[in-house]
Amino acid sequence: MARRRGLSTTAIHHGSAEGDDIIAPIYQTAIFKHPNGKQIRGRDLKYSREDNPTVNLLERKMAALEGGEDCLAFSSGMAAISTLLLSLTRQGDTIVTSKEVYGASLILMRSLEKFGIRVKCVLNDRLEREIDSRTKLVFVESITNPTLNVPDIRGIAEACRINGATLVVDNTFATPINFRPIEAGAEYVIHSATKYLGGHNDAVAGVLIGPKAGIDNAWEWRRNLGGSLDPFAAYLVIRGLKTLKLRVEEQNRKAQAIAEFLERHQKVKKVHYPGLESSPHHERAKDLMKGFGGVVSFELEDLEEAMKFLGGLKLIRTAPSLGGAETLVTHPVSSSHKNISPEERRELGITDGLVRLSVGLEDTEDLIADLEEALATS
Ligand code: PLP
Repeated sequence: MARRRGLSTTAIHHGSAEGDDIIAPIYQTAIFKHPNGKQIRGRDLKYSREDNPTVNLLERKMAALEGGEDCLAFSSGMAAISTLLLSLTRQGDTIVTSKEVYGASLILMRSLEKFGIRVKCVLNDRLEREIDSRTKLVFVESITNPTLNVPDIRGIAEACRINGATLVVDNTFATPINFRPIEAGAEYVIHSATKYLGGHNDAVAGVLIGPKAGIDNAWEWRRNLGGSLDPFAAYLVIRGLKTLKLRVEEQNRKAQAIAEFLERHQKVKKVHYPGLESSPHHERAKDLMKGFGGVVSFELEDLEEAMKFLGGLKLIRTAPSLGGAETLVTHPVSSSHKNISPEERRELGITDGLVRLSVGLEDTEDLIADLEEALATS
């Protein structure tokens, strides 16, 4: 039996044929010629909204990295999510989703109610109990934002299997380096490739990995909805993937060191990071994952303290994304979770003083020095 290659080797080499150039070309074209007088079939190359060789290379790499049968790339993470949801559900179906998922994903699912799809939104810990024989699809994130909870994916997958429901896992925060949801029983995996997969904050993209038949069906929906990925953005993500393992393992280490620093700091009330022994999710994360990711959240006393802290940062900048080389910070109450009611925020554990840090690749000592100085001003 052939040896299974590691994830870095797979990211760098998988998907290319023997005679291909070492660096894959960018097929910056909308159209492909086909022989005059011959019929074209199915996925023969003809138009880049359907297929493009640069995008297809990214798809082969991501299917291999997540251990799935096939993959489609999209113009954003939301294009991947919306296309999959529309391809899998119909009037009368029930979706069970974690309330702790990315805001736009939740809004999208709730908006499907106008097509006669029922949507049940519950906290991660209640998901398993909500799944029954009427459940069509279950949607969850492997590490949630911004409080970094880790749901019991194996238990949820088992409940889906028993009830004939499809489990979809958004694996953006974990990446296949830390966790591979298909091995834990998920049917589909989704990423905002804008984050760790691209890894450089310079491309917006999404991917969907799953079984061949489901991906073929989603391909029809992608063609008709039109959320295909541009070949240049595909090239950037392919380039990013070559260092994915290196980056993510380094970000795991830096985030752990920063979480431990923050936990010791007297101005910090609470740190959310599954790598900390104090985290209620530590044991589950240790059991499921190879690493705990590069995002750390922590609570300061109140809104005023959070604002003073953000104002005191010099190296770390405030911006909404994560997973790139630059360490970024967000204040969920005034940004991503601004439009959520105070009651719902309380339920999600999002306090006024909560700050989310996406740890990048700068030197850990410089990051800690910046945090320390900003904490001294707060
Ligand atoms: N899923 C998660 C967990 C995200 O954080 C995001 C964006 O922040 C998305 C999906 C949506 O991805 P995109 O912004 O690439 O559409």
